[in-house]
Amino acid sequence: MGKTLIEKHEVLIACQALGAAGLGDGIGGHVSRRVDGQEAFWINAFDRTLNEVTESDIFLVDYDGNVLNGKREISKGFEFHPAIYQRRQEINAVVHTHGFWGTALAGQARLMKIRHNLACFFHEDQAISPDDSFASIGDAIGTANTIIIPWHGCITVGTSIGRATALHQTLEEMAKLDVTLEPSNAPELPKEWRDRIKNLIDAEAHYLEQTWELMQRKVKLKEN
Ligand SMILES: [Zn+2]
Repeated sequence: MGKTLIEKHEVLIACQALGAAGLGDGIGGHVSRRVDGQEAFWINAFDRTLNEVTESDIFLVDYDGNVLNGKREISKGFEFHPAIYQRRQEINAVVHTHGFWGTALAGQARLMKIRHNLACFFHEDQAISPDDSFASIGDAIGTANTIIIPWHGCITVGTSIGRATALHQTLEEMAKLDVTLEPSNAPELPKEWRDRIKNLIDAEAHYLEQTWELMQRKVKLKEN
């Protein structure tokens, strides 16, 4: 498989993994992968859920939204993908879903509170967009790896498709915990602990890489 086709296949696996994680039930989720060395990216078609996506539902799209290898419709929200790729050269994948708990957090129109050690992935690494316009997202995300679109859903980005996808599932789990605990006024994890914990779970324990492997195993289990 050529490099470009491997990039396309990565989008397929990520869609299936998000579907297996319960994040792919509705129309409107999208996953993209930058094509190295081109102003283009692979993204799933709009008219299939992440659960349903097959190789033939993934399209090569340029930064103006032109589908380069077919005629299928892609999401109207495609534009934040090139906006992020243009601003963030280190980012190679973008994931957007309307997972229930991420959307519940977005419905509170606030950043996630840090109430678990895994939530330290989002410590000083999340943003909230000023409104629901896709055009604002490229600027609003800044250097963060997560952006919450109020009253809509969430986006995660990563240097690899595995990191962006695993971070998205982690966001869903941490949003569930945070939204559930919010009415209790549970305390947040102390600020001075967070950098150390983030380094431990990411650089030392490789939690996102391990989670990506787990997500792929769950796809295989579902297939068998
Ligand atoms: Zn959306």
